[in-house]
Amino acid sequence: MCYARAPLINGCTLPLSDQALEAAEKTASQAPDVSFGALDLDPSLMRGIEALGFEKCSPIQAQILPHTLQGHDAIGKAQTGTGKTAAFLITLFNDLLNNPVEGERYLAEPRAVILAPTRELVMQIADDARQLGKFTGLSTVTLIGGADYAKQLAKVNDRVTDIVVATPGRLIDFIQRGDMHLDRVESLVLDEADRMLDMGFIPQVKRIVRSTPKKEDRQTLLFSATFSQDIMSLATQWTFDPITVEIEPERIATENVDQRVYLLESRDRLGVLKAILASPESTSVIVFANRRDQVRRVHERLQKQGLECGILSGEITQAKRTKTLEQFKSGRIRVLVATDVAGRGIHVDGVSHVINYDLPEDPEDYVHRIGRTGRAGEKGVSISFASEDNAFLLPEIEALLGQSLKCVQVPEELLKT
Ligand code: AMP
Repeated sequence: MCYARAPLINGCTLPLSDQALEAAEKTASQAPDVSFGALDLDPSLMRGIEALGFEKCSPIQAQILPHTLQGHDAIGKAQTGTGKTAAFLITLFNDLLNNPVEGERYLAEPRAVILAPTRELVMQIADDARQLGKFTGLSTVTLIGGADYAKQLAKVNDRVTDIVVATPGRLIDFIQRGDMHLDRVESLVLDEADRMLDMGFIPQVKRIVRSTPKKEDRQTLLFSATFSQDIMSLATQWTFDPITVEIEPERIATENVDQRVYLLESRDRLGVLKAILASPESTSVIVFANRRDQVRRVHERLQKQGLECGILSGEITQAKRTKTLEQFKSGRIRVLVATDVAGRGIHVDGVSHVINYDLPEDPEDYVHRIGRTGRAGEKGVSISFASEDNAFLLPEIEALLGQSLKCVQVPEELLKT
């Protein structure tokens, strides 16, 4: 193969194939159109990509893959919905397939570790990994809190593990008990690093990173929706000469979403919600509230009305959350009431409406919430309830969006029920 030098990104150069170089250069013109075929991927991985129906790289994949596939570290500013999961999974899979281990392998010594802040996200990533890696023969294990340790351990001890997808706490448990060893790790992915920071996981993540080989001897990919100073300083500690890629998804997220803000008194919210849910257009709806107790209350009241709906919050057991998500994904239930943490990172296509029963206190959460609808090129509707006690949160959301939100009185027909 003929190699050229890649464009300088963050002070690093690396060899790229001609096709990949051309593809990477195209991304600079804001019109990335990179086919997976140009990336010289392992055939078994290509089969998985084709089976999923991915026709070309998403912008983050087009920008990052030509570099990470060469073994480079990367820091990506990207949110859910950009295709970042496939970006890091393709990197890992290709590397593991290109460099098979010679000699004996041992149980509980994974070659790649992916850390994510929530159990839902871990399961989502593992699910994506199973689909993408369907023809590769590589094995993935998930380690999450709130689920049976012994069962997870049995899986770890069943066969050699290539990839571990975990929440930080449960992986620490495995390391501490000597049930998992990270000294053979070749690749480390830290997903949603900003959320791990917000949730107080950084001390645990630091310990996990210290259990892996030093940064010069592993590939590290770090993704975060925001690049705060704290995140950048952690990224500098953990990555070696990384490239940096920023994908701004807010515009993508909002483009396909008809965002409505209804001005109403807080005591009218439940009635209006019920009226919205009764409309035939509400085929698949996620209702967000800020706190677990609110989520519980809304869920209870909807159920009392005979509306079958699911609940997704931190106080619900993992098994129940998993079942609920499956039911929602399959369309068996069409309404899900969720908190931000539980709702984050869940990608279900075909969500018709996102309802903000409460405005989120963090404007970033607004973007995440409405990003659950209007996916995969479809149109979606978000309806936010603004009342006397939360309307003051709107200006900050508008500032983040870079657009003003049209606030209207609730349509008459929704108030009558
Ligand atoms: P993520 O940002 O990882 O949450 O991915 C969002 C969605 O995009 C997931 O449903 C992926 O299956 C899908 N996806 C990822 N990469 C591609 C691609 N290249 N083409 C089409 N869909 C993709």
